[in-house]
Amino acid sequence: MRSPKKIIITGAASGIGYAAAKLFFKKGFSVGLIDADQAKLKKIAKELKKDGQDCFCRSVDVTNEVDLKAALDALTESLHGLDVFFSNAGINGTWAPIESLSIDEWDQTLKTNLRSTFLCTKFVIPHLKENGGSIIITSSINGTRIFNNFGASAYSTSKAGQIAFTKMAALELARYNIRVNAICPGAIDTAINEQTTYAETLKEVQIKVEYPEGNRPLKKETGTAKQVAEAVFFLASEAAENITGTELYIDGAESLL
Ligand code: NAD
Repeated sequence: MRSPKKIIITGAASGIGYAAAKLFFKKGFSVGLIDADQAKLKKIAKELKKDGQDCFCRSVDVTNEVDLKAALDALTESLHGLDVFFSNAGINGTWAPIESLSIDEWDQTLKTNLRSTFLCTKFVIPHLKENGGSIIITSSINGTRIFNNFGASAYSTSKAGQIAFTKMAALELARYNIRVNAICPGAIDTAINEQTTYAETLKEVQIKVEYPEGNRPLKKETGTAKQVAEAVFFLASEAAENITGTELYIDGAESLL
């Protein structure tokens, strides 16, 4: 595989996606950024201007397949090709007991986190097929660890689905030399954790389980978006050329508790 130099990132206006945009740009990549938040994207595009290196943005809702396909095609054209795709946009959505979780709330989480990953992968395959490349999908420790996550049935299902999808895609796309891997961050200090809707009904069923000592064996502090971006950079690099269909935990062993 030639040295990767062009990446598209979804959910690039905040948190992990923004940290990845800055890191890949710093490492010399031309970047294509997608997010629903147009104002933040514009600010980032201004910040990431450098001679000889490109930064292109598209404000798109990843649940809208028509807009999403158009954005991915246009960004690939602007970048003159694509080497790496980072499927990262996501929401925590509503956390509620299954009995009171509405069908709309369930659908919104699954559409934003899981269906969009399928759509993005489907739409970037034609752009990666010829030269090979890499797809990285942001799942979560919630995709495999259920401990202490009452109310997260929609979120956890979406994240577990992303891991299964990663493995199926890796198997299917290996013949094009496209690698597909998932990352599973633990608790990371980003805006997403202030945007969860906790249903009133959750209080009735919530069982608080105390972790033995803090909530991360390695370090007590919450992880950072930059630590996650570094893992994404590794998976995208030639150093990871024999790694596909796996999930990488960036969680200070939180998932082992
Ligand atoms: P964040 O809220 O800081 O960033 C998420 C970005 O996605 C935002 O800029 C938002 O505008 C964008 N987005 C959301 N819905 C969208 C849509 N429909 N269309 C386009 N853009 C949309 O959160 P983050 O922590 O950086 O989250 C990134 C990913 O990391 C998510 O998939 C999340 O599930 C996952 N994750 C986060 C944590 C954590 O603790 N922060 C842990 C595990 C996994």
